[in-house]
Amino acid sequence: MILGCHVQMKAPDFVEGSVKEALSYKADALMLYTGAPQNTKRRPVEEMHVSQARALMEENGIPMDRMIIHAPYIINPANSIKPEVAELAVEFLEKELQRTAAIGAKYMVLHPGSYTTADLETGIATAIRRLNAVGDYPENTVVCLETMAGKGSEIGYRFEQIAQILEGVSHPEHFGVCFDTCHTNDAGYDLRDFDAVLDEFDHVIGLSRLHVIHLNDSKNAMGARKDRHANIGQGTLGFDLLRSIAANERISGIPLILETPYIGGRPPYGEEIAMLRSGVYTPLE
Ligand code: FE
Ligand code: FE
Ligand code: ZN
Repeated sequence: MILGCHVQMKAPDFVEGSVKEALSYKADALMLYTGAPQNTKRRPVEEMHVSQARALMEENGIPMDRMIIHAPYIINPANSIKPEVAELAVEFLEKELQRTAAIGAKYMVLHPGSYTTADLETGIATAIRRLNAVGDYPENTVVCLETMAGKGSEIGYRFEQIAQILEGVSHPEHFGVCFDTCHTNDAGYDLRDFDAVLDEFDHVIGLSRLHVIHLNDSKNAMGARKDRHANIGQGTLGFDLLRSIAANERISGIPLILETPYIGGRPPYGEEIAMLRSGVYTPLE
């Protein structure tokens, strides 16, 4: 089981600090934003302690493709109502992919976006058009479209919608999928039969396109279309189910990334990772 979590990326150690944080939880994967997720201001990669971070990854035997980049959530390539928003998304995406490559990471998770006041089909078509406007997809980088909860006007909450985008992009070799357990539950997939959900994923998208899993519990019932993450064992999915998903042979090589809420201002990842590895659940508080 490859287990990681969403870690910080901040001064003074930047990406090196991210790796240190992940190691402190005994994680063997990690995910980070290259700056604040709510804006597009970014520091030059040269200042982000990348060589130190890579050395630390190597020392600990963690391959660089387990350092996952998450694009900022303000990026909305599906926005057809405000073209400048989608244009900004393209521009930022190009730079973010270059940063991903410069860092030496491979997978960049991206929310497919929201159609706002347009409609689902327009949103999907707009996202495809914008993704195809990205001038350069650096070698060895893969944009992983995240399965969404379907809150508001989000696109990508059904596997069919993700498949439609993957079929529409002109560089399919640079695209894959990130499966979020909280989001798929909230979107209406019954994860209690995870093998059936994987079968459906395989049939509609193809399991070979799956590169990242976000392992989260959910505060809401199946189909609620909400997107509120819960700590492992404290939501509607529950510890036993999430643990059995994490241990499923069919996804054994894929990094599982926790994006669970802080408890009392503290990240719960060390404890959650230990529980998932041991299979023994102890409620956190
Ligand atoms: Fe996400
Ligand atoms: Fe997620
Ligand atoms: Zn979420």
